[in-house]
Amino acid sequence: MSTVDTVRGPVPLDQLGPTLIHEHLIMISAEFEKFYPELAWSLPREEVVDKVAAALQEVRERGITTILDCTAFFHGRDMEFVKEVNDRVDMNIIVSSGIYTFDFLPYNVSHRPSDPVEKDMLTRMFVRDITVGVGDSGVKAQSIKVATDLAGITPNNERILRAAASASAQTGAPITVHTHPADQLGPSIQKILSEYGADLTKVVIGHSGDTSDLDYLRGLMDAGSMAGFDRFGLYMPGTATLEERLDTVATLCGEGYADRIGLSHDAVLYSDWSPPGAALKRFPTWVPTHISDVVVPGLRARGVADAQIDTMMVSAPASLFDSIRR
Ligand SMILES: [Zn+2]
Repeated sequence: MSTVDTVRGPVPLDQLGPTLIHEHLIMISAEFEKFYPELAWSLPREEVVDKVAAALQEVRERGITTILDCTAFFHGRDMEFVKEVNDRVDMNIIVSSGIYTFDFLPYNVSHRPSDPVEKDMLTRMFVRDITVGVGDSGVKAQSIKVATDLAGITPNNERILRAAASASAQTGAPITVHTHPADQLGPSIQKILSEYGADLTKVVIGHSGDTSDLDYLRGLMDAGSMAGFDRFGLYMPGTATLEERLDTVATLCGEGYADRIGLSHDAVLYSDWSPPGAALKRFPTWVPTHISDVVVPGLRARGVADAQIDTMMVSAPASLFDSIRR
C-alpha cells in the first residue's frame, strides 16, 4: 500500500479516511510575521494555535480524519504553526507546495530563465518542498497548489502552470489549480499541464463548484481531472448558491462522476488578510463543519447514496496521492 507524507509522517492511503481536499489552517505573510509580529498577530500566537486546534477538533468530531492544506508559497505558510496545531488534534494534515499568485512573480524568479522547465527556479522550489521538505520543518509537501484567476493565463501564469506540471511529472504529486470558473479556463489549464507532463487524473480544477454549468464540469472530469466542489460555505455573490451546488453534485453523482468530485470549504482558520471574525461575519456558513452538518445531509436528501459520498470523501481524495514516488 502506498503512503502519503503528512505533518506527522507517512500514512497508508487506505487509512486517510474522510478527507477535505482544500482548506487552510493559516495564511500569514512570513515577512510581515518576521518584521511586524505585533501587527501580524491579532491575538497572542498561542491563543491562535488553540483556536485553530479547537476548530479542527470540531471537524475531527464529525468523523473527518484528513485535511489537505492548500496553503502555498506567497500564501502565508507557517509550518511551525501547523505542527503545533497538529500536536493538539488527532488528524492527518497534508501540506502543499506551489505558489499563490495570479500573475506577479518576484524579480528573483522573473529574472531567471524559465527554460528548460525542469531547471526553472519554480520547478526546483516545488520539487524541493516535495522531496526534501518545506524549509527546515522536516515535513514534505505532497501537493502543488497554483492559481489562475481574473488575469487569465498570462505569460507568467503559463510559466507557473508549466513548472507545476514538470514538478508533478518528476514527483508524482498532484496539482490543485485555483480557478475562476466563470472564465471557463479549465480546459486551457488542463492542456498546458498535460503538455508539460502532468497526469490529468492527478489534477484538481479548484473552485469548479462556483459554477453550475454542467457541460463545463463534465468536460473537466471527462478529461480525467477532479472537479473541486471546494468552496462549500463560501457563497460569494455571482457564484452558485448552496442549493445549486447540492443539485449539481447530486446530478453528477447520478451520472457516475462521484470518483471525479472532491468536497471542501476553502476555509481559512486564521489569516492576517482581514480583521478576526470579518470573513465569518460576511459568510456565516464558511466554517469547516459545514460539509458534515449541512452538505452531506443535503446530498442524501437528493438521493446521493452513502457509497457515492464515501467515494467523494474517501477513495477519490486518496487516489490523488497514489503515484507519489519515494
Ligand atoms: Zn484555497
